[in-house]
Amino acid sequence: MYWTRRAWLGLFACWVIGSVYCPPVLCAEPAAIADEALLAEARQVHERALTLDSHVDIAGPQYATPQLDPGADNPLLKCDLVKMVSGGVDGVFFAAYVPQQACDADGYRRASEAAMAKISAIRRLTTMYPNRCALAATPDEVERIAAGGRRAIMIGIENGYAVGTELSSIQRFFDLGVRYITLCHNGHNQICDSCNPSSGLGDDGSKDRGLSPLGRQFVAEMNRLGMMIDLSHAAAGSFRDVVGLSRAPVIASHSGCAALREHPRNLTDEQLKTLAAKGGVIQMVAVGGFLMPPSPERKKAIDELAASVGVTEGNFAAAAKPQRERFEQEMVELDRRYPPACLKDFADHIDHAVQLAGVDHVGIGSDFDGGGGIHGFGSHAESLHVTVELLRRGYSADAIAKIWGGNLLRVWREVQAVAAR
Ligand SMILES: [Zn+2]
Repeated sequence: MYWTRRAWLGLFACWVIGSVYCPPVLCAEPAAIADEALLAEARQVHERALTLDSHVDIAGPQYATPQLDPGADNPLLKCDLVKMVSGGVDGVFFAAYVPQQACDADGYRRASEAAMAKISAIRRLTTMYPNRCALAATPDEVERIAAGGRRAIMIGIENGYAVGTELSSIQRFFDLGVRYITLCHNGHNQICDSCNPSSGLGDDGSKDRGLSPLGRQFVAEMNRLGMMIDLSHAAAGSFRDVVGLSRAPVIASHSGCAALREHPRNLTDEQLKTLAAKGGVIQMVAVGGFLMPPSPERKKAIDELAASVGVTEGNFAAAAKPQRERFEQEMVELDRRYPPACLKDFADHIDHAVQLAGVDHVGIGSDFDGGGGIHGFGSHAESLHVTVELLRRGYSADAIAKIWGGNLLRVWREVQAVAAR
């Protein structure tokens, strides 16, 4: 909530690193972000706004233990309580992510257990540091917790695979505080088709089948409970079916704009308009590869890493855990050497979504600790930079507050209202 010396140094470091690694046209102009008056205004706007991030991963079930402590300024984490405070971030949806595996009884059981372990870890954070954060299950609770100076911790499940085939499981997760479910991840599942079919899991490449009959029941049950439906990772057919069927607005918790970067994970202009017409929100993702195409050097390095680890794009979900983990670990160093994108790219995607969908339908979902992190917005400690850049582009304080959290809360309230009706 305040501008620390540390964040100042971060801004400077960002400028230096940005000017070394990125062609100038790709980065926020240092002269502009170092402007004193702009910085002072940004601090005020940022402090007044309720700032929420709709998608942050946790590293695993050891999260919120002495082995992986989010109470410290942890070099292994882009989101921890210290960085949230120094960057003025009021609340975060943590994702209990489970990778897609076979859709059979054994697979569902293991996925449910994995999700439960991560949900326990997220909840454990709030009991480890009750004076610094608290679990929020409603928009009112988010506002109350933030007003009291604590961080609001919210829970989502990334991949409805974890729910299995019993509708009653959705209620079980809801009772544990889960407030959105990303219907699928990489690979089709029992609910719907993914935008990234997994050849390793035998997917046929179709992206048009959309929701399964079971998936249609899931949508109705989530509407009934007041659980937000997250369409990031969903195939075009799944997106079409869900927005047609859902009685409540939907979210894309961490996606970009396909018009600026053609990528299966991004939403087309048509989808942006449909999402807005439905009253929903796209939460802009800060994964470099979704914001702009990789440079030839970066692409070569990624291809070499993937080959050496034995992972390819089509079978990533099916790769063994040690392979996936090694790939993810080595990507951290690769990102440092060949930066994926800059703050300007991120803001360009926000601009585009605002132009297409309107300022009431755009938010922020960094995907930190799950692949997110770009120059200028590399961790929650650098969140003020986003506000600086939006001010610089002419956004009003009201518009910035909507983007930083107001829109997400509005959608959440509407989802609750639909359930109450
Ligand atoms: Zn994701």
